[in-house]
Amino acid sequence: MPSVFRFAPSPNGHLHLGHAYSALLNHDLARDAGGRLLLRIEDIDATRCRPEFERAIYEDLAWLGITWETPVRRQSEHFAAYGAAIDRLSAQGLVYPSFESRADIARLVREREAGGAWPRDPDGAPLYPGTAKSLSAEARDRLIGQGAPFTLRLDMAAACGRAGGLRWHETGEGPAGESGDVAARPEAWGDVVLARKETPTSYHLSVVIDDALQGVTDVVRGVDLFWSTSVHRLLQELLGLPVPAYRHHRLIRDAAGQKLSKSTQATGLRELRAEGASPADVRRLVGLR
Ligand code: GLU
Repeated sequence: MPSVFRFAPSPNGHLHLGHAYSALLNHDLARDAGGRLLLRIEDIDATRCRPEFERAIYEDLAWLGITWETPVRRQSEHFAAYGAAIDRLSAQGLVYPSFESRADIARLVREREAGGAWPRDPDGAPLYPGTAKSLSAEARDRLIGQGAPFTLRLDMAAACGRAGGLRWHETGEGPAGESGDVAARPEAWGDVVLARKETPTSYHLSVVIDDALQGVTDVVRGVDLFWSTSVHRLLQELLGLPVPAYRHHRLIRDAAGQKLSKSTQATGLRELRAEGASPADVRRLVGLR
């Protein structure tokens, strides 16, 4: 079976050199392996994703000389598939609704921190501080019946009890040089969000469903997502999905050593192109031949 790679940008801004590196690396690895390259549009966040950014992604990638298979999978067209996965996790008793607003959560974290350090996830965000997990079934039903907005969370302790000792094969490198056979640490993320009222899925859930559905064998992405793989391994296990190989790559940094953002014009592909840069220049700038 041929290897299947994918590049999975979110259309919430224009692509920059960091995306170019990831896309070109996926392209080169797929070509060298005699494999396939898929493009997936990760547009679950309707408040931030825009059609013009999606069009620009196609344009910029084509300019770089990348070709991909069509039809392109757009996550916003598959909310039902993600909902079905949440139903499967719920049926295992691993999902609960929480009712705090973002402001409530910020206040709870401040209260917890006043009493000592409160744990943070690998991205630096505080773990969920609420107590919704212990609400009775009656209290949950009543709140939902009243139309209270809720967020669906994974009961991490129960999920880890169901699927412990998970590992993945890393051919790239983690933030502290981790590679080879890596032990997943999903508990470091706390009770992660699986779905919100305004977005009926989450990055973690849609990415594992799609990688499985699309037969992805090799996930090649930035090292900023290295520890997310812990959550992905857990969801794969709970949902009975196959496990791809992972290769996390270095991030391209700006002259000041900062991670690039979609609003940094200096490293935007459109800006570079307007200034006369060629695709070969882009390869050179990101250190690819
Ligand atoms: N959509 C994610 C991003 O743009 C990438 C997800 C992935 O490669 O797993 O950062």
